[in-house]
Amino acid sequence: ATPVAIMVGTGRGAELGILFRKGEALQLLKDAKIVAVDKTGTLTEGRPALTDMDVADGFERTHVLAQIAAVEARSEHPIARAIVDAAGQEGIVLPEPARFESITGMGVRAVVDGQRVDVGADRYMRSLGLDVGIFAQTAERLGSEGKSPLYAAIEGRLAAIVAVADPIKPTTPAAIAALHGLGLKVAMITGDNARTARAIATRLGIDEVVAEVLPEGKMQTIRRLKAEHGCLAFVGDGINDAPALAEADVGMAIGTGTDVAMEAADVVLMSGNLQGVPSAIALSKATLGNIR
Ligand code: ADP
Ligand code: MG
Repeated sequence: ATPVAIMVGTGRGAELGILFRKGEALQLLKDAKIVAVDKTGTLTEGRPALTDMDVADGFERTHVLAQIAAVEARSEHPIARAIVDAAGQEGIVLPEPARFESITGMGVRAVVDGQRVDVGADRYMRSLGLDVGIFAQTAERLGSEGKSPLYAAIEGRLAAIVAVADPIKPTTPAAIAALHGLGLKVAMITGDNARTARAIATRLGIDEVVAEVLPEGKMQTIRRLKAEHGCLAFVGDGINDAPALAEADVGMAIGTGTDVAMEAADVVLMSGNLQGVPSAIALSKATLGNIR
């Protein structure tokens, strides 16, 4: 394409709320074969709410909720806000946590009222040597409903299973349909558990799911998908997505996401949703005279 065509295409993109930070991205997108998408905050609102909570024998619900919300009050993960809000709605006053730690891709922990409290994914509990088997049936049901199960341990004893659910953005289904219409495959990459991820992917008609991916694993997943499918665009919003955005042929950040993601991206979608992705690909094809 001529430099003028690229300039016109970039300008048209800006009008559509698609900011090309690198001219190369506009040229590459026409060849994209697969779009890999982060789940939380990209396909979904990124504002999960607490939907379920079951406590183990010997634990009292309000006390457990207060303990875990006290820890989550220090976390910036979207899950954390869901739990803190739920405690707030029940009028629970949160104790001050001490020695807060966040274990990336796993969960969080702190000492609350002299008790050690751990909150996180099943793999986090397993890493602590805790068996989550007593909640197996509940976890299965929650996952099949597209909810994300989490576990809490107090003083090294499994205390509760809680679930959060994150609504799918209303614009997501049409964007996925448009990508399929352009002949692309859509893959979802998430740190969330496999059953939940599959339930959401099925609902959305997503072609491939890679779940329970640790933050450093997102980049490796991108590498593998590129090798299998060819030219790949990745769409994400989080700090965790930055390496994957850099590894993709075209990294696309959701404009309502983190600054870190936007800095790592080749394209920023000002609409704050996935709809800009098929538009950007269509624009690339039109600009480079490659409409198939
Ligand atoms: P994602 O946002 O795609 O789920 P993350 O790597 O941020 O990926 O988190 C992976 C998983 O680790 C979460 O799905 C959750 O199970 C657990 N986790 C992370 N942070 C927290 C937190 N603050 N509280 C509870 N669980 C957490
Ligand atoms: Mg995200």
